[in-house]
Amino acid sequence: MTEVGEKSRAGLDLSMPVQFLKGVGPARAKIFAQLGVETVGDLLEYFPRDWNFVPEPNKINRMRPNETVTIIGQVESTDYQSYRRQPLFEALISDDTGVCRIIWFHGGYLRGQLEPGQIIMASGKVNLYRHQLQLTNPKFFVLDDEHQWSAEYFSGGIYPACKGLTSRQIKRIIAPVLDHLDDLVPEFYGKEFLKKAELIPRKEAFSWIHLPPDEEKLSQAKRRLKYDELFLMQLGLALRRYKVQHFSKAVPCKCSDRIDSRIRRRFPFLLTEDQNVCISEIVADMSKSQPMNRLLQGDVGSGKTVVALYAALLAVANKLQAAIMAPTEILAGQHFLSIERYLKNSDVKRVLITGGLTGRKRKQLLDSIRTGDIDIVVGTVALLQADIEFRNLGLVVIDEQHKFGVAQRAQLRKQTTPHCLVMTATPIPRTLAMTAFGDLDVSVIRHSPPGRGNVITRWVSRYDRQKAYEFIRERLKAKKQAYFVYPRITAAEQASEIKAATDEWKLFSKQIFPEFNVGLLHGRMPSAKKQQVMSEFRRRRIDVLVSTIVVEVGVDVPNATIMVIEGANRFGLSQLHQLRGRIGRSDAKSFCFLFAETDNETAKSRLEIMTRSNDGFEIAEHDLRLRGPGEMFSTRQHGLPDLKIANIIDDFDLLVMARKNAFEMVSSDPMLRNTEHKNIRRALLARFGESIGLVDVA
Ligand code: ADP
Ligand code: MG
Repeated sequence: MTEVGEKSRAGLDLSMPVQFLKGVGPARAKIFAQLGVETVGDLLEYFPRDWNFVPEPNKINRMRPNETVTIIGQVESTDYQSYRRQPLFEALISDDTGVCRIIWFHGGYLRGQLEPGQIIMASGKVNLYRHQLQLTNPKFFVLDDEHQWSAEYFSGGIYPACKGLTSRQIKRIIAPVLDHLDDLVPEFYGKEFLKKAELIPRKEAFSWIHLPPDEEKLSQAKRRLKYDELFLMQLGLALRRYKVQHFSKAVPCKCSDRIDSRIRRRFPFLLTEDQNVCISEIVADMSKSQPMNRLLQGDVGSGKTVVALYAALLAVANKLQAAIMAPTEILAGQHFLSIERYLKNSDVKRVLITGGLTGRKRKQLLDSIRTGDIDIVVGTVALLQADIEFRNLGLVVIDEQHKFGVAQRAQLRKQTTPHCLVMTATPIPRTLAMTAFGDLDVSVIRHSPPGRGNVITRWVSRYDRQKAYEFIRERLKAKKQAYFVYPRITAAEQASEIKAATDEWKLFSKQIFPEFNVGLLHGRMPSAKKQQVMSEFRRRRIDVLVSTIVVEVGVDVPNATIMVIEGANRFGLSQLHQLRGRIGRSDAKSFCFLFAETDNETAKSRLEIMTRSNDGFEIAEHDLRLRGPGEMFSTRQHGLPDLKIANIIDDFDLLVMARKNAFEMVSSDPMLRNTEHKNIRRALLARFGESIGLVDVA
């Protein structure tokens, strides 16, 4: 221990390679590197995966069944019974209150270790054997003049180990480093804040996470370290956002009562409360000379287009142009159609740009956009980002439907002058919105307009299938339409999937619903054929549409009020919810039948959640819990941080607190130049490097 102490005075610091620690050396340093531990700082953050606690020693006559106890006593006798089916080593030990039997199964190795006359400390669970209390397989330690009772022999962290490096060895290497926490771990916050936030000092947290005196202190240590981890992450996001906002300018858009009522007159309904809240958030953003960067979330059919159109009309009222981009031409076309509906007889000039548009016509259109004759341009992302020049683009709306285009966002960031509204129909759980999207502002439409999303969902087992078919038949007779969806499993199985859908289609049209028109739609069909089938379905020439999951996003047939999902256990939650979004698009009640046979518990809970909830956010939250953030989204791509100790789901409350404090800190001291923030600044740089942008001005 003194050796490390000497070294430390000579400069044990966080960036020192672990190789120079006592007990490490080049060979072990290589093993540590495999565990992601290169420096002393990494080592301090190599947290145990679990902890042992042993209670204070007690007397033998105070032992109670099923309690965990520690006793200290003298070994009276030992015995090894090798002939038993489970060989066992037995010791009787005594203190001044009684005698206790201890057994270790397969304890042959204890011969020669335990002998009568020794004083030992043993800790484990008490059980009853033939009316006698005994300890089975306890941890034990032989006490002598050098080794007096101490909880540390048994207590403390259990580290994730690997070949060539045991948890115990790691523990021994870390322990002496903990004597230097004064130098190694500077405090981030003032005393007052710590008190208010009920956080223990950082130094103590590091000491206790590795060597917790008791469970209470361990949980305090965890809380502090989790907080710090989340705080630094949020600080990184806050700084990134600050940079985006302050390194670019936008044209502020003024809103007045007159403008507001003129825009609202365009909508043949009252906006919902959620829509109004989102609009007021957007109006506030757009009134600033910093560009808006807002994510608008809401299920399909929740009324986002209306909100986006409001924003576009606000830009137009301010003599600016607006661009609305969709991922596909079909969706762009749909946006344009609904915008046309709202803007009938309006002076606002709007166009749809399509890939089919070529030659002179295209040139004319582009000219009128450049000269500012056109107010609103709708098209695909690809088209609008290519070669279109605007006179004064004030707002960009990007509808991402079911993708999150982080890459797209990055691209847009370069062109920050227009205000930017990104729409997504995938409900993003709050936790993710605060992390992966933590540098965007978020508006949410949680409740759909009245009469929408009115779907009853049932999980149907094999035995009830016939009943479900009969129920559906009644609806079809009442001129409603139905989707039957078949799962896609992997690309390799695509052929068989198409076969499945094709076979089912034959079965349906010949046997199950011979009296109705049954159509087929799958991914391998030529695009023209697909269009034709869809249009027949829309025009009610087809009653039942059997399809693979090509029932694309954006397909809008309000009269289709029934959906059957075959093999529903094979779909993820969010996907089921997305599919179900095809129905429930009118005042009429809709019905979703999940056909599934499964013993898999996760699949079962997915199906149960679907029958219980129509709320996309609730479903996404469950999905996140069932699958974990890493599974749900490819971590790297979506910028989910690597967290060592905190968990964005379990530690949500801490996340909220960290986020609030981090954003406040950046707004009061954007570059963290304040000396109070010196240690935080250093930690942030160590963590994110110079990309965080603090260096720009430092
Ligand atoms: P999203 O873009 O979120 O999929 P839309 O904006 O296209 O949703 O709206 C879905 C449907 O709901 C549209 O037919 C629209 O006319 C209707 N709608 C939108 N807002 C309201 C409202 N406040 N009251 C009634 N109907 C609404
Ligand atoms: Mg829409």
